[in-house]
Amino acid sequence: MTAGGQWSPEESFALQLDRDDRLASCRTLFHIPTRADGQPVVYFCGNSLGLAPRTARALVEAEVSAWERLGVDAHFKDETPWYSYHELFRESGARLVGALPGEVVMMNGLTVNLHLMLATFYRPTPARHRILLEGGAFPSDGYAVRSHIGHHGLDPTRSLLVARPRPGEDLIRLEDVEALIERHGREIALVLMSGVHYLTGQVFDMERIAAVARRHGCRVGFDLAHAVGNVPLRLHDWAVDLAVWCSYKYLNAGPGAVAGCFVHERHGRNAALPRLAGWWGTDPESRFLMQPEFVPREGADGWQLSNPPIFSMAPLRASLAIFDGVGMDALRAKSVALTGYLQYLIDRISGERIETITPRESAARGCQLSIRVRDRARDVLKALTSEDVVVDFRAPDVIRVAPVPLYNTFHEVWRFSGILGRTCGTATG
Ligand SMILES: *Cc1c(COP(=O)(O)O)cnc(C)c1O
Repeated sequence: MTAGGQWSPEESFALQLDRDDRLASCRTLFHIPTRADGQPVVYFCGNSLGLAPRTARALVEAEVSAWERLGVDAHFKDETPWYSYHELFRESGARLVGALPGEVVMMNGLTVNLHLMLATFYRPTPARHRILLEGGAFPSDGYAVRSHIGHHGLDPTRSLLVARPRPGEDLIRLEDVEALIERHGREIALVLMSGVHYLTGQVFDMERIAAVARRHGCRVGFDLAHAVGNVPLRLHDWAVDLAVWCSYKYLNAGPGAVAGCFVHERHGRNAALPRLAGWWGTDPESRFLMQPEFVPREGADGWQLSNPPIFSMAPLRASLAIFDGVGMDALRAKSVALTGYLQYLIDRISGERIETITPRESAARGCQLSIRVRDRARDVLKALTSEDVVVDFRAPDVIRVAPVPLYNTFHEVWRFSGILGRTCGTATG
């Protein structure tokens, strides 16, 4: 791939990048929404809802058909018996986040999984009662954390510690997170941060944060909603205690898709860990003995509550098959180029009206660039929308643009930048 210095603003250059792109054919694996005239829109919103894999419908219909043909027997018959359906994701789910098989289970929604993980891993004592969260965290994470603090009879104003950007800055400095942990480590029960910040697109150095947290005896967990399927992850090696993510953003598994949960193997083997229990967390061999006593299955599976929603889970098979076929390394290489090209073109737009708040180093960002528009941000959004570019707007002034390596092209990045330049400044050259 071309290094930053060798980009060119010519349309022909963008088209050449697409011709050279070894992942270009992945786009045909997805349904791309179209305009009234049948032309595909420029869809830069995969950070919010990923596009539908073409195979998803057939996989859902196969399970509806199994229900029609077999009724209850589909739990144990057919190619993909429902009883063990979640085990279909054991290996591929683990590969996505750099985990061992058994450390990952697909279940529930992200926030539900966060609650389950907090129930197990946030066990405050009078001395160690605080949760460290990043500033401007996704609201649901803040609600979940505050509700657990309150649930233990504690006061969020005392027990919640927030890592914030410095005044006048948008990004949270790693050194500031580390300093907070160094200073308050003995009071911190759990460090909980996102892997990639949903608003700024900043990637946090999860390895370093996990190491520092563990050195101070804190548990450490990550919300990977914007990280999974976007940046490389090695949760097992980083010795992270827990992680949760949703599957409808970069994983393309459909609206409200079944989410993911990681529990490090050292905890998965510990049956004595307190948890909110349900029958699907028990050993499948003995589950139907209907014993009153809860004995958790080893691994992340032991945190399951209910028998899984098969129709909602089926699209995950379509999605993870694509990730397995392409591999995160190849995806990431294209993503770095695609977003680097976007940054290059945005930098050429003159004027003060727009500013990228996402870090400039590719290691510190994923697909997404967050662009602050200094005045009349909604006009820019309107201009993009009127030319069938789908992006996401966060009031008051941030446009999030996510070129996704699985289905976006360099030419789309070029088109987007042209519209932005015409609306916001004068594109030079
Ligand atoms: C998208 C997102 C969520 C959404 O939570 P759901 O439970 O899936 O509705 C939560 N946290 C973060 C950081 C997110 O980016």
